[in-house]
Amino acid sequence: MKLTQGIAMQNYTDSVEEYIKRTIFSKTGETFLDLSSQEDILYSELNDIGQWLCKDYIKGDSSFYLLDSVQVQAAAVHGHQAVLVYKGMLDLIFRTSAMMVGAERRHKFPGEEFYEPWRNNLNYWFRCAEFDWSDERYWWLHRDDSRKAFEMCAEGLFVFLLLHEIGHLHNLHGDRRIEKSKSETSTFSLDDDEIFVHEALGCGEAMSEADRLASHAREIVADTYAFKFMIVELRDSLLPESEYSGRDEAALRALNFGVCNHMVASLFWAFSFQRPMRNDIQEDDYPSHLFRLQSIENSALEGQLAGGNEETHLGMAVGIKTYTAKLVCAAGDDEFVTWRETAKIPANQEHYQKIRGVVGEWSNIKFGVRDEDWLPWPFST
Ligand SMILES: [Zn+2]
Repeated sequence: MKLTQGIAMQNYTDSVEEYIKRTIFSKTGETFLDLSSQEDILYSELNDIGQWLCKDYIKGDSSFYLLDSVQVQAAAVHGHQAVLVYKGMLDLIFRTSAMMVGAERRHKFPGEEFYEPWRNNLNYWFRCAEFDWSDERYWWLHRDDSRKAFEMCAEGLFVFLLLHEIGHLHNLHGDRRIEKSKSETSTFSLDDDEIFVHEALGCGEAMSEADRLASHAREIVADTYAFKFMIVELRDSLLPESEYSGRDEAALRALNFGVCNHMVASLFWAFSFQRPMRNDIQEDDYPSHLFRLQSIENSALEGQLAGGNEETHLGMAVGIKTYTAKLVCAAGDDEFVTWRETAKIPANQEHYQKIRGVVGEWSNIKFGVRDEDWLPWPFST
């Protein structure tokens, strides 16, 4: 690296870190996460993935930080092209991954006795603040095959989360919000920091209907982007060439899609416990996280994300069947099905359509495409 490039990079890094310290840490007392003092190597591994994804997907300077905070949160810092993930969010990813591994085991061995802290207890499991690495009962950390599956789930969920935040940057949600906040339709006044730091889980602040629809639309746009590239990023780790070469490519694409679909369904279900979203104009809890899953599935069908019409339909059938069976099995009840079915309530359907109606205002012209290139697979067909 040339000296001038090195200096420019250092200036960028200094200004991002100064911004984060001033706008976030000064209010909350949080700090950057010290990787050397974490209980497990997975924190460092996810940090590497985060840095790598930001470098690969964001044009120009970008940065990624893990923050030492129990908040279940992730954020995109517009203007600085930075992505932040809070430790509390990683813990939720770990708890979701543990439940997914537990579901596999319960599904395979319905009569076996083993530790399942989530079973009949999801509300506690997803809302409890800490994932205890030292707990001897956490068999998914101590058995080699389970640990491998646990890591694979955690990495997959993390990749989706990261790409979602990058999706906000990519679709210029910071700039678009500044533009919109100047228009008459918005009743929600924003200061610069609110525009620049987009958080993964909103706090249910009072907003006009137009603003609320816009905020849900932004989530859907970022999800569409994230899911498309999650499929690409996870292909090699889910279905390694060394084990799957020579197999039917269309079937592998469908399987790859199905596993990613299972992962995002599990994550959104976990989010729905962690912070139920409400819509003040309706009496019932508003199933925003469910709508995000529904929207990912709709967009995937439209874009034929598994590489072709047939593959995508097959992949989705595999995905839906898998996540429904596994999540019901993990929980020990039908809560997931009940949650999934709230999409059918007419008021929810109507609201979902309204969100879809404004999605175009928050998307780039070419939906879900990276700035610099079309990926050759599987989207060129
Ligand atoms: Zn978001």
